[in-house]
Amino acid sequence: MSKIENTVATELLSSPHRKISPSLLARKILCPAYVPAPLLAEDRLRFLGFHAMATLQVIGRHLRTGYCLKAIEKWGNGFRIDLVFESSTGRIRRSEVKSAKQITEVHRIQAALYWDPTCDEIVVSNGETDIVLTDEYIQSTQRKAKITLALLTNHPQVAASTFKPNPALCRICANSSCLFLSSTGSSIVSLSQDK
Ligand code: SF4
Repeated sequence: MSKIENTVATELLSSPHRKISPSLLARKILCPAYVPAPLLAEDRLRFLGFHAMATLQVIGRHLRTGYCLKAIEKWGNGFRIDLVFESSTGRIRRSEVKSAKQITEVHRIQAALYWDPTCDEIVVSNGETDIVLTDEYIQSTQRKAKITLALLTNHPQVAASTFKPNPALCRICANSSCLFLSSTGSSIVSLSQDK
């Protein structure tokens, strides 16, 4: 993939965007007015358990197919890359691990936001599979992310009223001013499905 000078990861480190995590940005790309519903403490704990199990499965699967584990939970400002592998040919693969049974669009978008020129490949993984993101998908997502960041920064009022209903998001949204808000989606998040 051709090099992108200012990646989204770089932009998220800059002062105007420090409070926007890749997880939130991925959802804002789909609906700029999305507001995350609060998580219950027990849901968060449950998620951490599911995520740890999925991580072990992803590591085991890669090791069995010849990859070498290079890093676990590589942190940056406001983001976390779950796993970094190196193939037998030296290609660096980043894996964004999800505990969800189904890998969704928001998972793919979030993983694409972690791209920078130091990795050759990004995959979204769960307990069963690894989905490789294409270069085209990553580039397209990076473009959408920059447009969304500009909207959130320069026109926050417009962003707050730009409603783009999405069944997966409306279910976990807490924007009480939105007519599309699900009657059941504002208080409890089903982490096993969303994460
Ligand atoms: S309820 Fe749906 S359409 Fe409304 S702000 Fe939330 S995600 Fe967007």
